[in-house]
Order: sequence, then structure tokens, then C-alpha cells
Amino acid sequence: MELSLDELMALARGVRDAAHGTRVTYSPKVFIPLTMLCRDRCGYCTFAQPPARLESPYLTPEQVLRIAQQGARAGCHEALFTLGEQPEDRYEAARTWLSAHGYDSTVHYLHAMAKLVLAETGLLPHANAGALPEHELSLLREVSPSQGMMLETLRDDLPCHRGAPDKVPARRLATLEAAGRLQIPFTSGILVGIGETRADRVAALEAIADSHRRHGHVQEVIVQNFLPKPGTGMQHEPPCPLDEYLWSIAVARLILPPEVHLQAPPNLSDDFGVLLDAGLDDWGGVSPVTLDHVNPERPWPALDRLREVTEARGFALAPRLTVHPEFVRNPQRWLHADLRFRVMDRSDAEGLGRDDPGALWPEKVTAADVVHDGAEVVLVGHRSTQWYSGSTQLPPTLLPSSRSTAIRGPVAEVLRGVEAGQQVGFDEIVTLFRARGPEVVEVAAVADELRHRAVGDAITWVHNRNINYTNVCTFKCRFCGFSKGPLSLNLRGTPYLLTLDDIAQRAAEAWEMGATEVTLQGGIHPNFDGDYYIDVTRAVKQAVPKMHVHGFTALEVTEGAKRLGEDLATYLRRLKDAGLASLPGTAAEILDDPVRAVLCPDKITTDEWLDCHAAAHEVGLRSNVTIMFGSIEHPESWARHMLRTRALQAITGGFTEFVGLPFVHMASPIYLQRASRRGPTFRENLLMHAVARIAYRDSIDNIQLSWVKIGAAGAVQLLQAGCNDLGGTLMDENISRAAGAAHGQAMTEQRFTDLVEPLGRRLQQRSTLYERIDTVAR
Ligand code: SF4
Repeated sequence: MELSLDELMALARGVRDAAHGTRVTYSPKVFIPLTMLCRDRCGYCTFAQPPARLESPYLTPEQVLRIAQQGARAGCHEALFTLGEQPEDRYEAARTWLSAHGYDSTVHYLHAMAKLVLAETGLLPHANAGALPEHELSLLREVSPSQGMMLETLRDDLPCHRGAPDKVPARRLATLEAAGRLQIPFTSGILVGIGETRADRVAALEAIADSHRRHGHVQEVIVQNFLPKPGTGMQHEPPCPLDEYLWSIAVARLILPPEVHLQAPPNLSDDFGVLLDAGLDDWGGVSPVTLDHVNPERPWPALDRLREVTEARGFALAPRLTVHPEFVRNPQRWLHADLRFRVMDRSDAEGLGRDDPGALWPEKVTAADVVHDGAEVVLVGHRSTQWYSGSTQLPPTLLPSSRSTAIRGPVAEVLRGVEAGQQVGFDEIVTLFRARGPEVVEVAAVADELRHRAVGDAITWVHNRNINYTNVCTFKCRFCGFSKGPLSLNLRGTPYLLTLDDIAQRAAEAWEMGATEVTLQGGIHPNFDGDYYIDVTRAVKQAVPKMHVHGFTALEVTEGAKRLGEDLATYLRRLKDAGLASLPGTAAEILDDPVRAVLCPDKITTDEWLDCHAAAHEVGLRSNVTIMFGSIEHPESWARHMLRTRALQAITGGFTEFVGLPFVHMASPIYLQRASRRGPTFRENLLMHAVARIAYRDSIDNIQLSWVKIGAAGAVQLLQAGCNDLGGTLMDENISRAAGAAHGQAMTEQRFTDLVEPLGRRLQQRSTLYERIDTVAR
């Protein structure tokens, strides 16, 4: 029995929803028509032009770069190279131009231009060079993270392809197969309405699906509708009827493996929202700056309209890279070694495109001439305008939001469970981290309500001073721009070690200025034994007996105990007897060992961090949970971190707070070695704190943000997303600054008040252990 169109579309939607949820992606791109010469003559095409109609057979490198820079400035991620197929085979003008410029072929020139664009703008090229032999696909794989070629149809007798030697189906199938063998993330697709039948479309889609099953390389399939264009052979043919188009999209969704993304161009349909009903999950490339050169009469919808239409149907729109996340997250297999950092540099933790507005240029740095305790590199060249942790750029405004769209899908389901009192587990936490657009607003609203119920409306802060007693460290944490190893004296600033007198004096000064806490942490100096930490604690307590000593990471404590040959509990008891009152959670980074093996291979393991905190709680010392996020890890690791610490809290109840510490990439060695992302996006920052509020519900009541890394404007938004604590005033905070954070060294009560008052909430000074400071005798 044949299904009706409505039934077919409902089935296709089901497949799409199960595989991709409410996520609909698009690629912000700039279109670079490298050459409009083509040896083929297709009956529907207005792109290809004869040499006489063109000023020059090819865009010059200067023209290419100008277009790409325009795209980069507008916040694009992709440089889509579109070109005719093998024009040098047909046109003398093409051969002459290429040889005059030192290129053997169009593909060689494309390789050079893609390399140029990548180096100068960081935009990721997507090469759309048609049916190519294996060696040319392989050459382009060095410079183009993904490639594409429409299969179009398997019919070899269509009148529209009569003058098109490259449209012979066997050649196109061979290209698709070769791309699979070369492990190229590949885009293909079919045309609908060029004279083929439904059975022909099914055959073409099955061929694509089979190739993908053999190689796993088809990242997306485009289903594109024919529209007649004046001046072409098919100008008098009827356009593809909407029902036929919807049928084809739905059938594509049902034939293709569910993980293959399905795309339809939004600019070729007047009411493009209806295409979502047929099961697509991707709008393809959308350019804020250039025309669709293949369909110049059909401009792309503005991004705002694309978002509006997408959200109105209950989806969340997300920018992606030329390579889809499944491929981004498996770079060893899918990306040429030269491209792995380029792709990572533009991606977020899920492997989608970074979604903060603004330009993202490749960072070029030189060593700073003058190095004190701040960042040791300076940026040269184009400056990115996107927000990142530690920068002075304003973050996008996610909250408060005027969005009123009701959300549906997996994020909505998890939130309904939370509202019904359920505890979130691994899958639910990962789902919440996928939130985009209106979903982010809802996650924040639920977190804000939980905050209100748990701790009320007061926003707390602690008056403290950071004392980083040494920056000499024998450990080699790859993210750490603070430590100075013995071999890096000249390269990385001056190593220092404060004396006990210095430390005592800083504590006394802090007390005079009103501080109630000193936070002690530093590098692991090769000369320290465990008694050093005890001596430091005593020095502070002797200078200021009432000062709360919050100090020593799990690494320092574990090393101290090890160097003395003591067990953790004995050693922690001695520290407590000397006056230590609580431990910071730092050194946790990400409590997920495969990530630690890359980030901080010689540091304590997840179990050792947890053992140390369990021992501290056992001897009566409170501590907190921190997470350093946004370097190399993915949301699954964030979920594991939350679940391991929540499990310990269920046993000991010793954690006072959760602190999100976004990774500051500038001047961080791992970023300078081109092996990490640029820290979390602002959306990820907001979600980290909101999801923590939800995950630690009835477990850890206080969620703290790090104003040093997030800045005042970001802090105000996080306070509306589940956070209730601003942390410390942090006089002399050196560690974030050493990694490039630009925010000042100290906050004041007045500056905290300025942040809090516009929210209609009350600022409350607290002790380290969350007692109201006006009720505690100093
Ligand atoms: S993070 Fe701490 S342990 Fe690691 S290198 Fe830096 S100072 Fe040393």
C-alpha cells in the first residue's frame, strides 16, 4: 500500500527527530566562485559562463582573499569554493591563464587558493570541484576539511546533461567512492525535477547510502529542487512541484542512514519552513555577505529570518563548520594532520561552529618584550571580535531574553523531569549541554528557579586575597601558563618563591583591608617537602590568628603527603592542626582520566583527586568542586565530572560549592602548541553553571562564577542562570592573568554591588564556609 505524502513525511520526521532531536544546523559561509568557466553545459545552469562574458577566467588571489576576509569579518566559518568542472579542457583562455600563473590545472589553483584562505582568514574551505579522480581529491584533502559533489541523478539519458561529460553517472559514483576510500567528509545530493522519475531518485539515494555504508564518509545529502532560469536550456520547463519536492526529502530521510544529515537549501523555496516537516535537519551554507552564485536570483534569507522560521517550528538553529560534529570529533580518521587544529580552533565542545557573534581570526602571536606576571605573548595581525574567556569583549546577551517560543524535544523533556523532581543522570546532563537558542533560556530559567529555592535571592561574595607563593613547578600541565619550569627561565618570565615572611605580611595586609580568607596555592616546587605547606599555614595563622586559610589543592596535599611518606588523613590532620580550614578544588581540571592524560598527564588521577577530598572531609575540612572547561574535552566529560563529585558529596557532604573555571586559552601552552580550543563559548559558560545548578540540586547549594575569567557583563547573565556566588575579591590573582585573562586583579564590594543591584537582588558578604559575615566576629 502506498503511503500518502503526509504519512511519509510523518515517518521521515520521526527518523529525523530520533537521530537529531530539535537541532537544525547551517553553515555561515562565504561563496568564492573561483572560476565560472566549465567544460560542461547543463540545461539548468546559469553559473557557467563562456570566457567572453568574464573579465578574467579565474578570480585572482587578491580577489579570493578580499572575499574571504569579508566573510571572516562577518563571522563566517566556511569558504565555499564553487567552480566549473575542468574548464582548461575546453577553453584556451583557461589554459593560458593557469600556465601564466604557474598552475597545471584548475584543481592545483584551487589547492593554492584554499591554502591561502585558510592561512590568512582561518575560514575552512569546502571544495566543490565536481567529479575528480582520486589523486585530485587527495590533493584537496590537505587544504579542505570537507569536499562535495552532487551526484544529481543516475540517469545517463537526460536531455539536460547532453553536453556535460562530467555528469556521466559512473564518473560521479567513482568520485563518491574515491572520497570514501580517502576518508573525506563528503557532501553529495540529488536534483529533483530535471526530468528524472521518482524511481530514479530512489536509485540515486540508495547509491549514496550504499557508498556511505561502505566508508562512513557521507556527512550530508542535499535534496535540491529544480527552478527554471532565464537563458538556460530548461527555461521553459516547469519548476519542481512542492509536493514532489517534499516527497523526495521525506524519501531521502527514510533511505539514508539516520546519521547522515539531510539538507535542503532555504533560498530555493518561498515557504521554506515547510521543508522542515519533511525531515531535514540542515539548511546548508547560508551567506551573510555573498550571493548564491549558482542561484543569484534567489538570495539567502537573512539569518534572523532563518532563525525565526526554524524556531517557530520548535527547532533550535545552530551554526556548524563545513565538517559535521561526528567528523570533527574524530580528527585522526577524517582530517588531514594540517587541518586538525584549524577545525578545532573554530569548534565548540560539541564539534559545531563557535556561536558567539563576531569575527574569529587565526591568532598570530609573538613573545612579549616585557613579561611580568601577566600574559607572555602579544597578538599580531587581525583581532578577533568574538568573546572568549578572559577577554575584554562583551559577551552576547543570552539573558534576559525576549524569546517566548515554547520548546519541545529532548531538552524540554529533561527539564520537565527536573521540574517534576527527578535527578539528572549522564544522558540528561549531556542533553542539557546541547541546548541552543530558546532551549538555553529555558535551562537557565529552571536553574534560576532551583537557585531561588535552594539559597534564596542573596548573592554572596567573600573578601579574600590570593597568595600564589611560587610559580616554580615540576609538573607539566599543558594548559598552565603560570608555572615556570627550570628550563624556561628566559622564555617564560621570572620564577619566584615568596618567603614565609612575605606570605605572613601579605596575610596581615589582607586582614587590614578587611579580608577574611587567604587562598594559598602555587606550583609544586622541587625543593618543597610536605612540611612546607604546614609552615606556610602556621606563618599565616601566627600573623593573623583569625584568618581563614583556604589552601592547597589535592595535588599539593597528595604530593606533600607523598614526600613525607604519610597517609593522606594523617597529613591533612597535621595541616588542620596548623590552622588549615578548607581546600580549594583546583587541580580537578576535568575529572575524566582520558582527558587528564592529554591535559595534565603527570598530575593526580580522578580517583586520587576524589580520595584527597574524601580524606579532607573525613578529617573535618570542607572543600569545593571546580571544573576547568573548554580546552579539549566534550560535554560527556563535563557530565562525568559532575556525577563523580556528586557521588562523593552524597557520602561526605563536604563540598561547599561548585566553581566553573572557563579555560583561558591565550598564552596557554596547549593553545600555543595548537592542540586545544579557544576556551568555552559564552553559551557553554552559561550552560555550565545552569546545568551544575540542576545536576547538584539538593547536593551542592552554592554555584560560583569566576568573574576574573567571565567579566562583569558575563557575570550578570550567569547570576540569572543558577549562580548565587561571586567568589572572592581575589587581590593579586596571577594564575588567570598568566594565561591571558584581561580582567583586573581585584574586585571591590562596590563593584560587586554595581553588578547585583540592577538584578533587584541583595549582595551579602559571606565567610568561606557561607556564614553571613555580619554574624561572624572577624
Ligand atoms: S597547573 Fe599547577 S601543577 Fe600544573 S603546571 Fe601549573 S602550577 Fe604546576
